[in-house]
Amino acid sequence: MSEPALVGVLAVQGDFREHRQALERCGARVAEVRRPEHLRGLDGLVIPGGESSTIAKLLRAYALDEAIRRFADAGGALWGTCAGAIAVAREIEGHPDQPRLGLLDIAVARNAYGRQVASFEVDLAVTGWHSAFRALFIRAPRITCVGEGVSVLAVYDGRPVAVADANTLATVFHPELTGDDRWHEAFVRRCLQARSRRAGPLPEAAPNEARSS
Ligand code: GLN
Repeated sequence: MSEPALVGVLAVQGDFREHRQALERCGARVAEVRRPEHLRGLDGLVIPGGESSTIAKLLRAYALDEAIRRFADAGGALWGTCAGAIAVAREIEGHPDQPRLGLLDIAVARNAYGRQVASFEVDLAVTGWHSAFRALFIRAPRITCVGEGVSVLAVYDGRPVAVADANTLATVFHPELTGDDRWHEAFVRRCLQARSRRAGPLPEAAPNEARSS
C-alpha cells in the first residue's frame, strides 16, 4: 500500500482545525502550514474559510503567496473553501486590489449570499455522488464566472458552488463543519493523484555503462 496522503492546511487564520480533523478522519497525515518551508513534501494544501482579506495579507506577510504559486506550479493539489475559494480565484469582483493567488480561472463576488441571511444550509446534488450533500453557507462568495478549463461540480440557485480544474478545487460552502467528510475524501484522492502525476513515469533502467564493474 502506498503512503497516506500528506496534506497541508493553511493555518494563519480561519477554521483550519476543523479541516485538519476531517482530513485525519479520512486517513491523511496533516501538517499545519504557516511558513513557506512547511509546504515541502506535501501532496496538497487546503486554504480554509475565514476572512479572505486577512488571509491575503498574511499570505503576503509570510511570503506564502509566492510559495503556494510555486507549489501549485509543481503540481501540488489545492483546495480553497469559502474565503479560500476567494484566495485562489483569478478575479474578485469589486475588490481589484485585494491580493489573490489567481490559480483558478473563476471570478467571485464576496459575501454575495450573506446580506439578508447570515448563514443557511441547502442540499446539493454533486456530480457523480449518489446522495445529496448538506452544504453550509456562511457569508459565502458567489462564483460569477467560470473559465473554459474549469468543471462545475455542484450548482445552487443557478450558480456554481463547487468547481475544479486539474489542480485546484474550490467550494464556497463549508464541508469541514457538517461532519460529512465526502469532500475531504475527494480531496485526499486528488492529493494522491497529484502525487502520482508528479512522480511521473517509472525511471528508465540504468544504462549499462553506469553500472559499477
Ligand atoms: N466573507 C468572507 C470573505 O469574504 C468569507 C467567509 C467565510 O470564509 N466563511 O472573506
